[in-house]
Amino acid sequence: MCKLTDHIGRSFKVLRVSLLDKCNFACTYCVYEDGLTAAIQKPVVLSSDELVDLIGRLHDVLHLQTIRLTGGEPLLYPDLPKLVTGIRQLGIHDIKMTTNGFLLAKKVSSLQEAGLRSVNVSLDALSESSFYRVTKRAGLKQVIEGIIAAQKMGLEVKINTVVMAGENDQEILPLLDFAFRHGIKIRFLELMGMGHLFGDTDSKFFSRQALLERISSVYTIDEQAKKYGDTATYWNTACGYSFGIIANDSHPFCADCNRLRLDAQGNIYGCLSSNTPIPLREVSSQKGLEAGLYAALGQKQMQFSGSEMSMLTIGG
Ligand code: SAM
Repeated sequence: MCKLTDHIGRSFKVLRVSLLDKCNFACTYCVYEDGLTAAIQKPVVLSSDELVDLIGRLHDVLHLQTIRLTGGEPLLYPDLPKLVTGIRQLGIHDIKMTTNGFLLAKKVSSLQEAGLRSVNVSLDALSESSFYRVTKRAGLKQVIEGIIAAQKMGLEVKINTVVMAGENDQEILPLLDFAFRHGIKIRFLELMGMGHLFGDTDSKFFSRQALLERISSVYTIDEQAKKYGDTATYWNTACGYSFGIIANDSHPFCADCNRLRLDAQGNIYGCLSSNTPIPLREVSSQKGLEAGLYAALGQKQMQFSGSEMSMLTIGG
């Protein structure tokens, strides 16, 4: 019997699956514009059948609670509804997706029917110019339509905003207002030193403290206790709304991390700060799978330290 828990009780309950190393946006915190063309040409590596098989084998050992589909841009993955159905048929019902939202309005209905429960939509600005500056694409209208369509379909919708000083920090209050008006949870993310930003976030870093100062200049706020395993800490406002902050850098939450990551080539990673892939695609024995999972558990750290691996590959 395999007891996959480390010395401080961390295990794997949430599997983040990066479906492909390909994206239709080129967010400056995620990729170099130059790197985009190469990334776009990378083929899909694992078919939906292969992925369901691999997720099923991991589920047998780990009794996973949640699958989060990410990428690259998961809405570019062919057969996405088939994949969601396959995961649901494994007995995993908490199926979520992180997306840039550009294709969401077109695809949300089939995904909801297949069993998708929840979407986190990355939205870093509400003005066209800031949106373009961050994403290098003109797609604000489509992203907002995607958010509204997902809400109408009854999915849980959250907004993720990566805040960069001097790039989109002026968007914090308009985004907060948008989220409150639409009854959507918004979480602001501190910039993380991944990929081309490894060791180089200082000039654009906008801290949790700075976020709280900006928000409390308008709202009276009160901190909630952080839930075990959650990445965000939430605050309530005096007018009955709430928002979250994911402060990887200034307030790390590694001590209760329950996440395992699977990339588009079938490698697992136990920690966002580790760029050592543990290949599982060719592993067929239970023993081999468990050995890989123990190695991944051993990668977990106590503090986020970043990695040269791009978020495009590991999926956030
Ligand atoms: N394409 C999808 C999207 O845009 O949400 C999914 C993939 S994206 C890599 C997953 C998450 O990583 C997004 O919420 C994105 O904002 C976040 N992300 C990417 N690079 C980041 C960085 N350097 N710092 C903080 N968050 C980052």
